[in-house]
Amino acid sequence: MSKYWNQRTWALSPYIPGEQPRERKFIKLNTNENPYPPSPEVIVAIQNAANEDLRLYPDPECLELRTAIARRYARYARYALTPEQVFVGNGSDEILAFMFAAFFESGAAALPVLFPDITYSFYPVYARLWDTPFELVPLRDDFSLNIADYDRPNGGVVIANPNAPTGRALRLEDARLLVEQQASYGRIALFDEAYMAFASEPGSLVAYINEYPNLLTVHTLSKAASLAGLRVGYAIANAELIEGLRRVRDSFNSYTLDRLALAGATVAICHSAYYDDCNRRVIATRERVSTQLTALGFELVPSSANFIFTRHPAIKGSALFMALCKRGILTRHWDAPRIAGYLRVSIGTDADMDTFLAACADITQI
Ligand code: PMP
Repeated sequence: MSKYWNQRTWALSPYIPGEQPRERKFIKLNTNENPYPPSPEVIVAIQNAANEDLRLYPDPECLELRTAIARRYARYARYALTPEQVFVGNGSDEILAFMFAAFFESGAAALPVLFPDITYSFYPVYARLWDTPFELVPLRDDFSLNIADYDRPNGGVVIANPNAPTGRALRLEDARLLVEQQASYGRIALFDEAYMAFASEPGSLVAYINEYPNLLTVHTLSKAASLAGLRVGYAIANAELIEGLRRVRDSFNSYTLDRLALAGATVAICHSAYYDDCNRRVIATRERVSTQLTALGFELVPSSANFIFTRHPAIKGSALFMALCKRGILTRHWDAPRIAGYLRVSIGTDADMDTFLAACADITQI
């Protein structure tokens, strides 16, 4: 700490990301990265972009990437999407930060933004950064979300669907009802669909963008496109909301995506068949691991994501975390009251998960 910090810096409580160990000896099941490599064409595109044009700023409009995203979703959306309905950023975290700044009011007099008590722990961090009041709405005991709990005047709602770290998805009908409920209060419904590619049922709200002017959706290439290292996320919403994001971005930094990221992301968006195949494998591994963990006496929350949320009735969450760590397997554990018994385990390759299952069998026998 320093006496030169201003009041805002003093008051910050930053998000703590999962560990990125320097040694390669760990099996990393702690940050929901995709175990499969990006499409080979993506790597070639990035290599090709590493040329003397790097002396030039990248396109501040990111038009090629936004056009590719609009085209890809036009297949699913009920009406065609346009690049004006797409915003891109340096990871969905950055876009979420811009969304809190652009659409939620600050100051004690503002109505609170609502989100679940158990969800992505960056949301309260953004709210505090922008001095936005917020209220945590408890999930049910099984970690499912009751949309009636949000049926009251509020400053906006933020929902990760599928949720993190529980992996539970909200049904599409309920998600739509929540957006309509929010419209009746004249407020935004922000849906973070970071893990939607791993859902068992189609649940994305992108198809409804043209119907709901208060709907914001945010997406990432970090998980479904195996590009956590490239830092690219995108938002889809109506053109006025996207313009609001643009105003905030251009008050910070007009070039949030560099030339290499733009080149790689544009190709990744066009290679959805490759990724659909990788993600089907992740889903198949998740289902197999879930069955085998259940046989070992573990309890699991039904997962629609590329991770599972699990506990063992006879072993503390922190003890399980440590025991796995000692065996070279990194997972994620939180000390928060309702979830201290659980571990979040990202789905790795089949070989990684076999090592994980063998470690679990060993630990539960002690
Ligand atoms: N939303 C959720 C729910 C997440 O779990 C994550 C990953 N930590 C993100 C957004 C951010 O992803 P990224 O910034 O890599 O796009």
